[in-house]
Amino acid sequence: MKIPADMDSFINAAPWWSTEFETEVVCTKDGVGELLERAKRESRRPFFVLDSSLRGQKAFADLFEASPVMIFDATSSEPRTEDVDLLTGMIKSDPAVPDLVVAVGGGSTMDLVKAAALCTANPGPSSRYQGYGMEMKKGLETWVLPTLNGTGAEITPIAVLRGPEKKLGINNRFASPSVAFIDPNLSSGAKKFNRFYTLMDCYYHHYEITKSRTSAADAHEDASRGIMLAKEALSRGLEVYEIETAIMAAMASVLGGSSSIRGRVGASHALSYGLSNSSPTLPHSVAVTISMLALEELYPDGYANTIRFLDLNGMEIPKASDYAIGEKDIPKMTKTASGMEKLWESCFGADLDKEALPAFIEDKYRKILEA
Ligand SMILES: [Zn+2]
Repeated sequence: MKIPADMDSFINAAPWWSTEFETEVVCTKDGVGELLERAKRESRRPFFVLDSSLRGQKAFADLFEASPVMIFDATSSEPRTEDVDLLTGMIKSDPAVPDLVVAVGGGSTMDLVKAAALCTANPGPSSRYQGYGMEMKKGLETWVLPTLNGTGAEITPIAVLRGPEKKLGINNRFASPSVAFIDPNLSSGAKKFNRFYTLMDCYYHHYEITKSRTSAADAHEDASRGIMLAKEALSRGLEVYEIETAIMAAMASVLGGSSSIRGRVGASHALSYGLSNSSPTLPHSVAVTISMLALEELYPDGYANTIRFLDLNGMEIPKASDYAIGEKDIPKMTKTASGMEKLWESCFGADLDKEALPAFIEDKYRKILEA
């Protein structure tokens, strides 16, 4: 696969994925302008949801003047179901009668919008739909404009939410955005910490799918392209924003979405869910990194690359204890991770020894806490 060296070749690179998905991908040098122009041309009545961290960045000024609009503080790692219910209510009661919801931001903002747009056509509350295979009606159409690349949320039919009881996504085919405007320029204002960790998570998604024993062939294909792009971007270093690296991240992100449709991640994601459940402040991407650091025997190259990427990018080794996770959390974390059966099957295959699994998991959490 040839990596586009500049924006002009990036715009003509699609499709760079093998898995088919429902979202229309629009590669553009002017994401904001193109989105606004298309909404106008199609006489749409958009409701905008903007990540609050974009306020003050010149590229987004036109959007902050749009109306109706909700400004969302995306600093927590996932949107809460109560945020979804609030937004659903705002959209439904808006006098402009919106027929489209537009998300501008990172994975959290996109997931919030995907969930709320879907919930406008369903009685709610949103926590009722966390899970798989729920019967739901098609909601309002969504368009997304990612301002951080790596989550894959721009094309997936999943909205990850933190509910009153559990962190679990709404997984529904109607949750896919209908259009994703991909403009790698837009991540230039994002903090290095966010650009780095979002891409680390993207790397892990691709890594675990390439190692998976239960993922489909097209998922493997997309993951092997994605891992190449993510590795290259992380190896160049993300200290200073560069468009070449941002293009790779944007392409790896779409592949992260496409490979997850028929692919499945593995052990570091399974362990990360236990960690996330014990700490609401721990970002998902950091949780997966901490987990990978305890899996040297299972994933030797994933482990070695993690150390290398952290070092190259001048990042400290993240620790679970920094997020108030301790010995007391081990039984609960072990229970959560043991329940991720599909991920363990993806990792170990059908001959997975279910009896030995809790002891294996507990051992890894001890390792994490000793680090
Ligand atoms: Zn992840």
